[in-house]
Amino acid sequence: MSEIVGIDLGTTNSLIAVFRDGRPQLISNVHGDTLTPSVVGVLPSGEVIVGSPAKELRVTEPHRCAATFKRLMGQNQSLKLGGKSFIAPELSAMVLRSLKCDAETFLGETVSEAVITVPAYFNDHQRKATRLAGELAGLKVRRIVNEPTAAALAYGFHDRQARKKLLVIDLGGGTFDVTLMDVFEGALEIISTAGENFLGGEDFTDRLASAVLSSRNLQFEVMEQRNPLMVSRLREECEAAKRILSTHETAAIRIPDPRGILDSDSADFVISRSAFTEIVRPLLDRLRGPIDKALHDGRCARHEVDEVILAGGATRMPAIADLVRDDFGRIPCCSLNPDEVVALGAAVQAALIVDDVAVEDVVMTDVCPHTLGVAIVKEFGGHLEEGYFSPVIHRNTTIPVSREERYATVHPHQTSILLQVYQGEARRVKDNLLLGQLTVDGIPPGPPGQPIEVRFTYDLNGILEVEAYVPGGGRKFQAILNHQSSGLSNDEIREAVKRMQAIKFYPRDDLRNQRLVLFCERLVGEVGVDDRDRLEAALDLFEQAMSSGDRDRFSEARRLLIHLLLDLGIANPEPDVEEES
Ligand code: AMP
Repeated sequence: MSEIVGIDLGTTNSLIAVFRDGRPQLISNVHGDTLTPSVVGVLPSGEVIVGSPAKELRVTEPHRCAATFKRLMGQNQSLKLGGKSFIAPELSAMVLRSLKCDAETFLGETVSEAVITVPAYFNDHQRKATRLAGELAGLKVRRIVNEPTAAALAYGFHDRQARKKLLVIDLGGGTFDVTLMDVFEGALEIISTAGENFLGGEDFTDRLASAVLSSRNLQFEVMEQRNPLMVSRLREECEAAKRILSTHETAAIRIPDPRGILDSDSADFVISRSAFTEIVRPLLDRLRGPIDKALHDGRCARHEVDEVILAGGATRMPAIADLVRDDFGRIPCCSLNPDEVVALGAAVQAALIVDDVAVEDVVMTDVCPHTLGVAIVKEFGGHLEEGYFSPVIHRNTTIPVSREERYATVHPHQTSILLQVYQGEARRVKDNLLLGQLTVDGIPPGPPGQPIEVRFTYDLNGILEVEAYVPGGGRKFQAILNHQSSGLSNDEIREAVKRMQAIKFYPRDDLRNQRLVLFCERLVGEVGVDDRDRLEAALDLFEQAMSSGDRDRFSEARRLLIHLLLDLGIANPEPDVEEES
């Protein structure tokens, strides 16, 4: 039996892990890193690159690349890159395919099944889009797991004697989740979860870039349209500064000129950690809403939380630990690497699926993150008004769950009802998400008030089955709301499968050299004039040697290029490109 891999499909970075020798283990990619940037690029040749080479390309040719597309999952919207159009599940599928290749190289066998994590607060369409991405990548998705649940599983696996109430604060690149849970001797019970799908580390970087531009009387949105290269370079600078501020008190940001060129004359913007915290204060304040909601839903006071666990790369910002310290009076726990903990937990979940003996004492229960219900009509003083939401399964109910509610006809001699199923918390359905609908007919004609029973069954993967029947009528109407992937029709899915099969990926064996080329291309725009000429000359030689097929010539050209990079002060130009013997 082939192994089930655990995948953290992140907004900024993705990771893959496997459960082996009684523990979860991360798998490195072709560049030797466990973090694969969730970035896809299309080269002028039409070939697709994924991960760090695409991240390099994005700095110099943003129009050829797509990043943060996880934010578009579940929306029927396409992105254009390098003259081609892709939907978010296709782009995610390319990242998944790349991770799958890495796992196959590591394991020496075909990988065909996976557990994929999603933000706890992902809605049904976003979950289906994730499942579709897996299928497009040739992976059977055995389980979709909430990211904070996976983080808790990783902690629960490592600390099985614990008996405590945990709060997982998961701030990734694009999403924020809070999950409250009880851990009791290997049993993990999720109590409540809350979050925001559009709040993550990338927003912190954008705020900083926006503040830098404002200091020059420039507007981020306007510049992004007019000078995308300048903004992408500035964003890279701000991303680096944000990370530096996680360990240092100040950081300098070079501001590129309007053409996007960064050189030794570039103006500097020096920022202190406290100034950065003030700039991002509105984002920090937004974190408190979901924390309050999760605690409120879980009927838990702040002082009753025994431990706060941090997951997601953006929790490395000291402001997050400060917020926990101020609000909970305790230092958060990050004994597992916050970048890695979700993928490790996904591998533990994979072990649970195959009943690995190493996890036989681990048990987990999860909750449904959103309320599920139907649209109803309300009567106000003899007047009927449509569009109200009636919950059947409330948010934070432990899953799997099955609940039945009775509804009734509202018109005389009404013989059928269109049952519309929604997800969300709003009172009116127009503000919630339509998941699907089901026509129930065969209702015996009569006065208003003829009963209809509606049953919702929600399983561990977040798949909802809706059944309806007229009491005494004998006939059952049923809909399983799991096949309409992210609002795409079957034809659109077939098209996506075809497009995916037609994609030409850049040869895996050459990816490391391609990354070196793209890294140098980025540098060409950042070094002084003299160095630029030397770098371009060495790069030309390297590219010619790459296409010559002459192994000796290639080794020599690469040696010269790396030498030059060292000479230019690049301490670790290409750590994973090993010198060939
Ligand atoms: P994840 O999706 O968990 O990989 O989180 C990625 C986010 O974490 C990105 O927005 C990164 O900018 C952010 N991040 C990673 N490392 C750091 C760091 N040292 N300091 C601040 N933010 C970081």
